[in-house]
Amino acid sequence: MSQQGYVTAPPFSQSQPRMGGFSAGFGPPNSSLHYGHYGDPNSSHAAAPQPGLSKSTVPLGSSAPLGPLPPGTHQVSQNNFQSGPSAAGQQPHRFQSPLPPNNTGPSYPPGSHQSQPASPNTVSTSCTTQLANQLNSMQINSYGPGAIQSSHTSSGHPQQLPLMQHQMTLQPGPQIPPPANNFSGLCAQSSLSSIARQDGIPGSGLPNPNLQQLPGQTPGPGYHPQQANYGPQMAGSQLSYPGAFPGGPAQLSGPPQKKLDPDSIPSPIQVIENDKASRGGQMYATNTRGQVPPLVTTDCLIQDQGHASPRYIRCTTYCFPSSSDMAKQARIPLAAVIQPFAIVPSNETPLYVVNHGETGPIRCNRCKAYMCPFMQFIEGGRRYQCGFCNCINEVPPFFFQHLDHIGRRVDHYERPELSLGSYEYVATLDYCRNNKPPNPPAYIFMIDVSYRNINSGLVKLICDELKTLLDKLPREEQEESSAIRVGFVTYNKVLHFFNVKSNLAQPQMMVVSDVGEVFVPLLDGFLVNFQESRSVVNNLLDQIPEMFADTNESETIFAPVIQAGMEALKAAECAGKLFIFHSSLPTAEAPGKLRNRDDKKLLSTDKEKTLFQPQVNSYESLARDCVANGCCVNLFLFPNQYVDIASLGLVTMYTGGTLYKYNNFQLNSDSPQFLTDLRRDIEKKTGFDAIMRVRTSTGFRATDFFGAIYMNNTTDVEMAAVDCDKAVTVEFKHDDKLNEDSGALIQCAVLYTSVSGQRRLRIHNIGLNCSTQLADVYKTCETDALINFFAKSAFKAILSQPLKVVREILVSQTAHMLACYRKNCASPSAVSQLILPDAMKVLPVYMNCLLKSTVLTGRPEIPTDERAYHRQLVMSMGVADTQLFFYPQLLPIHNLDLKSDAVPAAVRCSEERLSEGGAFILANGLSMFLWLGVSTPPELIQGLFNVPSFAHISAEATLLPDLANPYSKKIKSIVEHIQSQKPYTMKLMIVKQREQPEMLFRQFLVEDKSIHGGASYVDFLCCVHKEICQLLN
Ligand SMILES: [Zn+2]
Repeated sequence: MSQQGYVTAPPFSQSQPRMGGFSAGFGPPNSSLHYGHYGDPNSSHAAAPQPGLSKSTVPLGSSAPLGPLPPGTHQVSQNNFQSGPSAAGQQPHRFQSPLPPNNTGPSYPPGSHQSQPASPNTVSTSCTTQLANQLNSMQINSYGPGAIQSSHTSSGHPQQLPLMQHQMTLQPGPQIPPPANNFSGLCAQSSLSSIARQDGIPGSGLPNPNLQQLPGQTPGPGYHPQQANYGPQMAGSQLSYPGAFPGGPAQLSGPPQKKLDPDSIPSPIQVIENDKASRGGQMYATNTRGQVPPLVTTDCLIQDQGHASPRYIRCTTYCFPSSSDMAKQARIPLAAVIQPFAIVPSNETPLYVVNHGETGPIRCNRCKAYMCPFMQFIEGGRRYQCGFCNCINEVPPFFFQHLDHIGRRVDHYERPELSLGSYEYVATLDYCRNNKPPNPPAYIFMIDVSYRNINSGLVKLICDELKTLLDKLPREEQEESSAIRVGFVTYNKVLHFFNVKSNLAQPQMMVVSDVGEVFVPLLDGFLVNFQESRSVVNNLLDQIPEMFADTNESETIFAPVIQAGMEALKAAECAGKLFIFHSSLPTAEAPGKLRNRDDKKLLSTDKEKTLFQPQVNSYESLARDCVANGCCVNLFLFPNQYVDIASLGLVTMYTGGTLYKYNNFQLNSDSPQFLTDLRRDIEKKTGFDAIMRVRTSTGFRATDFFGAIYMNNTTDVEMAAVDCDKAVTVEFKHDDKLNEDSGALIQCAVLYTSVSGQRRLRIHNIGLNCSTQLADVYKTCETDALINFFAKSAFKAILSQPLKVVREILVSQTAHMLACYRKNCASPSAVSQLILPDAMKVLPVYMNCLLKSTVLTGRPEIPTDERAYHRQLVMSMGVADTQLFFYPQLLPIHNLDLKSDAVPAAVRCSEERLSEGGAFILANGLSMFLWLGVSTPPELIQGLFNVPSFAHISAEATLLPDLANPYSKKIKSIVEHIQSQKPYTMKLMIVKQREQPEMLFRQFLVEDKSIHGGASYVDFLCCVHKEICQLLN
């Protein structure tokens, strides 16, 4: 089954045979370095360099043609930095070079450049140098308050350029990125890295043998809690000074100097805040085809006026290129991220349900698209033309309505299916299994009662919790109680089923010890209504911990547990969810038995991919059976060592389930996190036994799907269940030319069974524009959706391709997208200038975060299970979740306005934003940290922890105490806000500056060079810029 789902990865595998180094120029071998389907190796980049561009091959003189730009130009450039998406595409985001003429002239002081004028690297050297100069000069132009005027400051440091030249010189030799096991940054070869090393930039230190590894954490060899890193010299006092580059070589060995002002490169925070400022708190009406919604980080009220809310669908671009040639040229993935059951806030309208009775939904005869705002009524309303396939259909008599003077049905606004982007249909029996109305779904709780779970108190915790939780099973809004039935199984090496029929005085246990061929020993009394069987169920939940209190069974089975749950649902003829609480590698003799196959030696080899594949095939066939029977598997794992998540999580992944993991579970510190997850999961809005179909208007079609899904064929996306947090990312390709007038229309239909057992269709429609102008495509890109696509496609590709290749493709495609913009959309300028489209200006920083993620980082310090876990989570994430996951939120909380309800504005994820006197909260959707500087104000410490000083703070706590003071209340409300609507409960870790857990925290400062060697943002930007320069030449 994996053939349709995950194992093969056509985009990556197609291009694999010709994979090479990504930066060895733009010759034919490299032109295939992209997702195969963009596939024309002779795309426009390969065209002969334009005469005007060839000057960039002159070292460092490349900016000469432009020379210093007039102050007005700087101002424009600066405005471009400040502009949010509202100004998208108006002006490219570019790094202007305000270098004084004497610096760009032909005469150079002695320097490394003269010594290697014929070096094959001169072009890229020039580019990188130019970029560095731009970046440097952008210090002067840095946006935000307090920006310094450019002209006098830069010209006051004539020596700056020669030195830059020296420092930016690339080391000769092949420019192939270092292999994944040795990636001390993608730009390891670039001199920026070497500057960073000289300057003592954090993350470049030597291993500190005194550090101990924390349980379950992944320290890196490069970590050193060097206090100076947070010291005054890091506080940026020199950063605002444009001459911050050392005045001469002699100063290189002097006190640490800052090379570049980080404020001069595009800031994700700035982009997020600009969008909030321009679009936050407003109403966004989806009334226009192809309009770009507010960023996923911006809170606003969304009103459906004919296109699906961006809560349900976000696209990588809202204007598709009209031809496949254009698409190949730009290499911008054309994709939609669909979260069909996304939660909408209570102040937005929930979906209307349309019921046409026995007739069922109205559909196009030819393409089977559902009635929607894209259908055009003609001939006085007697017929309609399908917006997807153009077929003319008769309007069924019961649905007939007259048209008004503009050709619109007079009942347009009375029918959701005519005027709204999203709505539901009640499905008829034709849409049900075996043409029978479905039974309400069931939840089966399956608890591992082996020694460790009993001993840790976990079993008792679960049982106690279920007693209250079962009253909160989801129900239809109009119904008083839930229709969902419940069942209970415990297991170690054998399975125990429980009869909890309401008329029993005591629950009854039935043991199934033949786990080779699992059968369900009872039907009547296994799945019950909790309200009816409450006393028997509670009795059982009281007894289970005692029943196994003396167990010494440490071996467990796993696959037979899923099998048993699935068989039980099948026998009861209903869909449902299994909630499995499991702790160990299933080593007992049974199907799906696993051995510890974790092998660090496989890292960076062609076999690394096997670590992400299931160990035995039986899990795949089990997953297929589960999907076929509407059995969704939720897995709560409590490992204290390798449990092979790639195998155990597979069924969860394919069945639309959720995987939760609690390393080294400790009852006291981890219960709140686990119980919150469990509660939320049980109450979650879910569609069961679901099948999704994505239809498109003519000229393009859905070709690839990524998510917690299963596919038996190329069109039907099957999900045993789909909940509010799960998103499917769909990629589109051209079949033909797209028409600018009719646009590109997408309809996503999800057929599912509701919590009450009603069969329904949920329809989401969205219309995108098409254009023959590449600029229109770039103007309407959504970087957050692009990153979601890139993450999922890369995480899928690692199942079949070496990590190194996948990483190279990501870098290469980033450069291609930007180079294409530079060449076709930006106004003429020196080739060595880095120009980023406004809508993609944070693409490089986000892409670097993806490249640095644990999944794409094959380092022995990172547990294999952790990587498999992250991989699985990301595969089903929506755009908001991937945005936060790859670029965490870092909030300063030391200077809060205690009177305001507002959450403080985030700062960039870099150590430079921290300060000794500061306190910060960092969250990425999975982890949350409270970082406290050594000089955190005592009143804040007192307010938060009720202790007098920094030294008294215990870093053991995982919750903030409830204290009746403004600090505590405010910060707890901020934490709540961060946590709200997130799929996973984040356990709070308290990190004190200069104490050991800081190294874990540092991994999340994603703009810095990572402790595992990932490139800093600046280094990566230089690396991408270098590639762009090569592509343009
Ligand atoms: Zn049609």
